[in-house]
Amino acid sequence: MREVGTARRIPDTEQIRTLEAAGRVLAEEITADRDYPPFPRSARDGYAVRSADVPGELRVIGEVRAGEVFRGSVSPGGAVEIMTGAPLPEGADAVVMVEHTERSGNHVKVARSLKSGENFNPQGIEAKHGSTVLSAGRRLGFAEIALLAMVGRECATVYRRPRVAILPTGDEIVEAGQQPEPFQIRNSNAWSMAVQVARAGGDPQILPIARDNYESTRGLIEQGLAHDLLLLSGGVSAGKYDIVERVLGDLGAQFFFDRVLVQPGQPLVFGTARGKFFFGLPGNPASTMVTFEVFARAAVELLGGANESPLPLLQARLSKDVRHKPGLTRFLPAQVSADGSSVAPEPWQGSGDVNSLARANAFLVTEPDRESWTAGEMIRVLLK
Ligand code: AMP
Ligand code: MG
Repeated sequence: MREVGTARRIPDTEQIRTLEAAGRVLAEEITADRDYPPFPRSARDGYAVRSADVPGELRVIGEVRAGEVFRGSVSPGGAVEIMTGAPLPEGADAVVMVEHTERSGNHVKVARSLKSGENFNPQGIEAKHGSTVLSAGRRLGFAEIALLAMVGRECATVYRRPRVAILPTGDEIVEAGQQPEPFQIRNSNAWSMAVQVARAGGDPQILPIARDNYESTRGLIEQGLAHDLLLLSGGVSAGKYDIVERVLGDLGAQFFFDRVLVQPGQPLVFGTARGKFFFGLPGNPASTMVTFEVFARAAVELLGGANESPLPLLQARLSKDVRHKPGLTRFLPAQVSADGSSVAPEPWQGSGDVNSLARANAFLVTEPDRESWTAGEMIRVLLK
């Protein structure tokens, strides 16, 4: 995605309510409006003490609840009953958990020793007043939204979402609302791509289906190139009616690549035309979904002003043997177990099997230089 990274221009920005900003990309730097925590904050219910005084029996001189402050200080031999979230009183340097104490009247027995600093968060340890807590380019998820609320930001400046044209192609494709003839299939790719585009931070715009003839394909590609990014599905293989590359070539396209060593998904074109980036993704539903995630997702993120995020890859233990012809990196629909430790390939009938793709919760990722994996081995997994 180097090409997109260097050629992109900074998108326009808009101010929106923070609560509506989930999934959007921050366009400003956010700093801490005060220290966090703003005071030394107890992490436990218990007693605020001087660590040098314990173990021992201490005199309880008062109580401090969350939302209050203790006016006074803890002198040698004293303790203040304290609740989680309350400010540590002056003089105290540790909190002993209530479970480790024995109270009788005005006195409390502490049987164990404590280190200075135990069980409270010093002022400013999470963020110092004025320090940067979020930078421009950051996608906002639930924790980032919480952080904005924490520093008092009810509104935030975000980048406008890139408008991404989705152009399905094929003479055999009909719209999802239509009754197909026995030899036709419904357009499912535009729908999966629209969801993937939105998930990557883009604003999907589905164009009509391009027919496998020059005029129809050219007219719709020209429409698509008026958007920030054009994603095509189908028409990029070596078939007689796969004319997407020819049309793009006639529009002066520069191609960065036209094949990837990935299955599903081998024929895949990426380039620019009329100052816009395009991806011609292969039409098989599995190929379209996988190549979007592996190649186009990063472009949508970058055009949206976001920092490119890594693919959600992890490792899990195979629970079944897997064999494959070497040479390509393969993405196979798979099921990661509920505890996340193991993974099994999902039965599937090849790149057109949308049913299997829907059942799967992940893809197994097999390396190109091997052909067999045995149950018990660790293998890479791409979360769906
Ligand atoms: P193509 O890349 O055009 O050769 O298409 C490869 C396969 O994907 C063919 O079986 C197509 O029917 C199927 N296909 C192409 N476009 C779509 C689409 N929009 N929705 C579902 N399947 C499609
Ligand atoms: Mg086709």
